[in-house]
Amino acid sequence: MEPLVFTPSLNLSLVPHWQLWSQLRDQVGGRLYESVPFAQPCYDEFNSSACVGVRHSYLDEVSRTNTPTAFVQSQWETCQATQEHCLLDWSNPDNDAPTHAAECKSGSLPSYYINVQTADDVKAAFDFSRKTKVPLSIRNTGHDYKGRSSAPGSLGLWMHNLQEISYTPSFAPRGCSAGRVTPSPAVTMGAGVRWDEAHTFADKHNITLVGGSDKSVGAVGGWLQGGGHGALSNTMGMGADRVLEFEVVTPDGEVRVANECQHADLFWALRGGGGGTFGVVLYATVLASPPVTLQTLIFSWGSAHAHVDENLNRTREAWALFADASVALAEEGWGGYATKDVIVLVNPEDPSTFEKGDSEPEGDEEVMMWKGSAIAPLIKWGHSLRTKDRGVVLIQKVFPTWLSFFNVFTSKFVASVGKNLALSSRLVPATSLSTPSLREGIVGALMHANTVTTSPGVIILMTTPYSFPDEEKRTSVNRMWRESVWHVTNVEAWAWNATAEEVRGSYRRAKESLGKLKDLTGGTDGGGAYVNEADVYEEGWERAFWGDNYGRLLEVKRKYDPDHLLDCWHCVGFEREDERFGCYLDV
Ligand SMILES: Cc1cc2nc3c(=O)[nH]c(=O)nc-3n(C[C@H](O)[C@H](O)[C@H](O)COP(=O)(O)OP(=O)(O)OC[C@H]3O[C@@H](n4cnc5c(N)ncnc54)[C@H](O)[C@@H]3O)c2cc1C
Repeated sequence: MEPLVFTPSLNLSLVPHWQLWSQLRDQVGGRLYESVPFAQPCYDEFNSSACVGVRHSYLDEVSRTNTPTAFVQSQWETCQATQEHCLLDWSNPDNDAPTHAAECKSGSLPSYYINVQTADDVKAAFDFSRKTKVPLSIRNTGHDYKGRSSAPGSLGLWMHNLQEISYTPSFAPRGCSAGRVTPSPAVTMGAGVRWDEAHTFADKHNITLVGGSDKSVGAVGGWLQGGGHGALSNTMGMGADRVLEFEVVTPDGEVRVANECQHADLFWALRGGGGGTFGVVLYATVLASPPVTLQTLIFSWGSAHAHVDENLNRTREAWALFADASVALAEEGWGGYATKDVIVLVNPEDPSTFEKGDSEPEGDEEVMMWKGSAIAPLIKWGHSLRTKDRGVVLIQKVFPTWLSFFNVFTSKFVASVGKNLALSSRLVPATSLSTPSLREGIVGALMHANTVTTSPGVIILMTTPYSFPDEEKRTSVNRMWRESVWHVTNVEAWAWNATAEEVRGSYRRAKESLGKLKDLTGGTDGGGAYVNEADVYEEGWERAFWGDNYGRLLEVKRKYDPDHLLDCWHCVGFEREDERFGCYLDV
């Protein structure tokens, strides 16, 4: 698909190193483009048809994902340190005030980007960066919450157009001798494939892939290389658990096949060590599983008719029941999401395996359907609530495939797009939920979190690989993921014209909102957070994101990228002084 903003107006004679830029343009077959901010047409002429198109798609995730200069959290298009930007008002993109308030500036966008189509494009970019010291940035969908896919003045590598996808019923990693690895069904995807595309492809081939909760997150880029969790991860593993092979261009310009048999150190590092760090991945091959049918609970208790205190009580009660049940739910195979007013849980396991709990709920068919399951008390409570309030929704349903569930889920739960957003994250180990008083403390900390940020945005993600042990330590994700039953996030947003101090305040509130939870789940020394969804200013980030794996990851980084051609914020080997981080605020 062509990007919405696509202006090959490169005037190279005005650019430092212009001969090298010119040479680069020739090396990449002319696919070197100047970055033009997404909303530039609106700053040129607000009523132009081009601007109407931008306004219309400003909050649309697929449009942003497919546009090389638009990012899902729009602050990563801006220079937060200097306040230069080219934003519209996300609360009303038809408001022309931003275009009168300031000039359109390219903020933290790369100066130029390559529309990557071959390994030679990437090799040329590494050579160019080595000679000119122009930093590189790698961008796939632009979903990153921490700004790791843009950098001011950089040469951007836009991976979107690597769109190949293929299914191999019996895939053997290259270079493995016969008998070393058992061949398995697998899907090979180019770096630009999104999760909605991957799941649609899988469905056609009657197989299941494990992806996240969002349709336009990339399947191969930051999601996969940072760990990658989803509603099936409890029993089927994280994305990183399921990779069989990467094809990657390392900073020395070599195309390497990394799997269990070749470049095993690089393979391990790419399975959780983070995107944008060890090389530019062109393709990944991931395990394909047989089709799944999903037992599903969709329970929404928030009510427009209920008093605000009543809704708060319901949130507390639902979360308390969820906390009581979560370890048992994880053991039964459930995964999913809970917010202040909804719980969605899915289970790919046969429901007959649930019938091992103590509870023997009596009564209606809905409760009896999963009789004995740890989920029964939650359903029983939901049912009693519904008899009092017809606004309560309680659906128990079997989806015949992952795609049928995913399509419903992503149509109902659409993430924030086009906003300035700060996030924070905590992993919640099972031990933190092991006694009633610990659970009470955790629920209190979650309720507190929703009072600190300006709108209650806590999400409890039951997407950890609790029932998927990795005894051989084949991935580099923080081991704490496997001991945890929840990953919790919270968000804070700010307006297009917020001052630098207001922006700092938003980052601080996102952090502080999960502070109590952090204290109850290991603190700075022993706690964990998800590298892809963490506080931008996470303290002790090396340990929080990778635990004991950080030292080994740093060795791999030094081996494959000794000249530090790649770097990103709080990535393995991160160096704050680098000019590419000049747009981050000190908070
Ligand atoms: C709405 C939304 C929903 C989300 N849902 C989930 C979820 O359910 N589960 C989950 O685990 N995470 C989720 N995330 C977080 C997601 O994992 C991260 O945002 C991730 O960084 C996205 O990767 P990307 O490649 O799509 O994005 P990008 O922003 O393009 O890239 C992210 C990082 O990966 C690097 N990178 C990208 N492509 C390559 C490549 N080919 N080679 C090397 N490095 C590369 C970039 O340089 C950058 O550092 C969600 C995020 C959003 C905004």
